[in-house]
Amino acid sequence: MNRSAVAEAAVQDLKTRISGQVLRPGDEGYDHSRRVFNAMMDRSPALILRCARPEDVIHGVDFARERGLDLSIKGGGHSVAGNAVCEVGLMLDMSGMKSIHVDPARRIAVAESGLTLGEFDAATQAHGLATTLGVVSMTGIAGLTLGGGIGWLNGKYGLACDNLLSVDVVTADGQLRTAAPDQHDDLFWALRGGGGNFGVVVSFTYQLHPVVTVLGGGVSYPPNAAHEALRRYHEFASTCPDELSTVASIGRSSDGEPVVSVAVCWCGPLDEGERVVRPLRELGPPIADEIQPMPYLTIQSAPDAGFPLGRQHYWKASFLKDLPDQAIETILRFAAEIPSPYTGIGLQQMSGVASRVDSAATAFAHRARQYDFLILSQWDDPADSPTNIAWTRSLFEAMSPFLERGVYVNDLGEEGEDRVRAAYGGNYERLARVKAKYDPANLFRLNHNVRPTNESRGE
Ligand SMILES: Cc1cc2nc3c(=O)[nH]c(=O)nc-3n(C[C@H](O)[C@H](O)[C@H](O)COP(=O)(O)OP(=O)(O)OC[C@H]3O[C@@H](n4cnc5c(N)ncnc54)[C@H](O)[C@@H]3O)c2cc1C
Repeated sequence: MNRSAVAEAAVQDLKTRISGQVLRPGDEGYDHSRRVFNAMMDRSPALILRCARPEDVIHGVDFARERGLDLSIKGGGHSVAGNAVCEVGLMLDMSGMKSIHVDPARRIAVAESGLTLGEFDAATQAHGLATTLGVVSMTGIAGLTLGGGIGWLNGKYGLACDNLLSVDVVTADGQLRTAAPDQHDDLFWALRGGGGNFGVVVSFTYQLHPVVTVLGGGVSYPPNAAHEALRRYHEFASTCPDELSTVASIGRSSDGEPVVSVAVCWCGPLDEGERVVRPLRELGPPIADEIQPMPYLTIQSAPDAGFPLGRQHYWKASFLKDLPDQAIETILRFAAEIPSPYTGIGLQQMSGVASRVDSAATAFAHRARQYDFLILSQWDDPADSPTNIAWTRSLFEAMSPFLERGVYVNDLGEEGEDRVRAAYGGNYERLARVKAKYDPANLFRLNHNVRPTNESRGE
């Protein structure tokens, strides 16, 4: 559908129906709205609807469906794949919908889908409450939760999607529906891990938990202890209690040596936490030890400075269950040659409650004690893209004998249908059936797409 096909009269009519704004190229705010975290993505929708209320979302979905326009949905704009922004079609920008209501007595939050993690955490922490989200505060709750949501509290409280009680969503037919265990339960299942395939989420209702002060921060080890630190970290992470979540990061020092650090979040009693994390402090002599009691809000924004807007990003990831010596050697060999000072390799731990949920209980299929193995390449100058992308792909390929086939959908770039299928794993066919029921024409296709059953391979 080309730009001229969006008739002026229809756009004017849309404007009279909505409370939010319609933006076109050249309008004030248009460029701000289409901008996303990954500066590699530079797409220009024909129209942007900055939604202000659920009715705007309904009008936007109807408008796109009736005119055959491509439709994309932008929450926090942090997907590295950049699917939030379409080329030429209609983009729904949800970032104006940020209301949140916290009920401290029932420990629930009803949160509109335009909130970032930082905004959500600030509102719930005012009541000493939290739920699992991710680790960088500018990320959007919507994309994160719909894909799963792996964060510091996953061991104790499960993934973000495991904490959903209900979801208000506008489906492809323009209906606002509540999906919950007792209403549209098939849709509720699919929304917990199936990404943006099933409609435009207006608001999420989350279960909250008491979390105020955590034991958080990181320990770094000298380059000559890097191998031993990773080996012993894996032993430690394999048995640590549900209250502890960890992330191991591997970077490159200014003189080209691999540096290993381990960050933790303990959400149980502090004195017990000090005892639990002690082995990490005894992994060789740490060159820095910053593990200390801190407000939960502090740990929730700790890595923010390392992920500013405006950089080029190319990520590769898969789940990783074991960390044999050969895998450690591979990681450290490539770490010494990282082409950009901003790039890191991460092992984000998923364990405890998040790992014990039945794989078919929600659409998030990858339930095991494991790491989300992440190669997070970022650099400034687009001219450096070939070098950085080649390094990332080489490391991923060298690590592939050790990696699971399964990949977290929220880490995917544009990597082809096999990788999309690997992201939904054993739940793909069931997702395709739910898709056929709620979005048979695949209106919501600008995502890591689940094809409706009748379109799905071999059917
Ligand atoms: C710096 C950084 C740190 C991260 N850390 C973590 C982490 O700790 N844990 C983790 O689990 N993930 C993490 N992620 C991955 C993150 O979960 C995904 O990038 C996620 O898609 C971000 O959500 P968003 O709303 O900001 O994204 P967007 O780019 O706005 O949206 C991504 C997709 O989600 C869908 N979507 C968005 N809003 C809606 C809506 N209202 N209704 C329906 N569909 C919608 C659409 O399909 C859209 O294309 C991180 C990403 C970055 C860039």
